[in-house]
Amino acid sequence: LIGRTDILVIGAGPVGLFTVFQAGMLGMKCSVIDALEQIGGQCSALYPEKPIYDIPGYPEISGQGLIDNLAKQAHPFSPTFYLDQKAVKLIKTNYGYQVVTSKDKIIEAKCIIIAAGSGAFGPKKPPLENLENFEQKSIFYNVTKISNFIGMKVAIAGGGDSAIDWAITLSNVADFVYVIHRRNNFRCAPESYNKLNKLVELGKIEIVAPYQLHSLKGEDATLQQVIVQDFDGNLRELEADCLLPFFGLAADLGPISDWGLNLDHNHIKVDMTTMETNVPGIYAVGDIATYQNKLKLILTGFAEVASAAHSAYKYVFPNKALHFEYSTSKGISNL
Ligand SMILES: Cc1cc2nc3c(=O)[nH]c(=O)nc-3n(C[C@H](O)[C@H](O)[C@H](O)COP(=O)(O)OP(=O)(O)OC[C@H]3O[C@@H](n4cnc5c(N)ncnc54)[C@H](O)[C@@H]3O)c2cc1C
Repeated sequence: LIGRTDILVIGAGPVGLFTVFQAGMLGMKCSVIDALEQIGGQCSALYPEKPIYDIPGYPEISGQGLIDNLAKQAHPFSPTFYLDQKAVKLIKTNYGYQVVTSKDKIIEAKCIIIAAGSGAFGPKKPPLENLENFEQKSIFYNVTKISNFIGMKVAIAGGGDSAIDWAITLSNVADFVYVIHRRNNFRCAPESYNKLNKLVELGKIEIVAPYQLHSLKGEDATLQQVIVQDFDGNLRELEADCLLPFFGLAADLGPISDWGLNLDHNHIKVDMTTMETNVPGIYAVGDIATYQNKLKLILTGFAEVASAAHSAYKYVFPNKALHFEYSTSKGISNL
């Protein structure tokens, strides 16, 4: 057992982060699990720089700006974060529940609030045979250390900002970089596209487009060639030591769908007066929670969190009565 807490929050998106604050105001401590390496859910992963206009009290705030503020608001309540790991298994215990993560951490809590959005984010993977054999050895979905690519022949697949930014950065250390894209036009920032073309002129990068990934050749998890195909079916073999597919993120409800919760099309059904699911002590809030006329908005999630935290109080403090108080009279006291 790694940690014990009052409430275990699954998902560190905007709604999960606000759960830490609301629970904290009622004297309950939270741990938070997220599949991503960083907090912020969709706001940080999908639109950090886009302005949001419908957060009450903020005429305009960027996705990342909102997350920074939510993290600051949660900070006095010292949440423990378990990032880069999925909540996988649920076990009922006398204390409440244990959740086992994909990194084999076991966290025990008196109750659980699921703020899992559309599910755990992970990389969109290309449908290639033997992909798993090469993963984490020759195929990577992110770059943790640039120096790992020194002198390598690197194949990057994708046409968005991640693909192009990494192609530009890795061309400084790699022997050669291929950028494989199924279209001739790229979805990256125009400055990045200009830089990319300069590096093509300098012979450091080749754009392989319009081509799609076709297959992989190599031995014992060591990649030797990436085979690509054009729309007429012609194949081309690219000598490559590694492949970095940057196709964005996909969400997957995954193992949570086997936890005995009532589901409706990959969403968790709740009693909207408390946000509790059909399993006592397990709540769902934010995009993942569903009920009649549900609006999938951040502000809706925030209100749901307040209901869930007030209802969860009885599991954390079974012998205490909860007296409703405004934050203005209560103030913030550290947990
Ligand atoms: C481009 C775009 C623009 C948007 N604009 C607006 C807007 O203007 N106003 C607005 O109100 N809303 C907007 N939204 C929607 C808004 O972002 C979502 O409603 C909000 O992010 C939902 O928050 P959440 O915390 O419920 O879930 P999410 O933000 O989806 O976060 C859920 C987190 O849970 C994690 N997770 C899921 N399952 C697991 C698991 N098993 N283990 C570990 N971690 C897990 C995920 O990795 C993720 O980080 C927009 C969305 C997009 C994509």
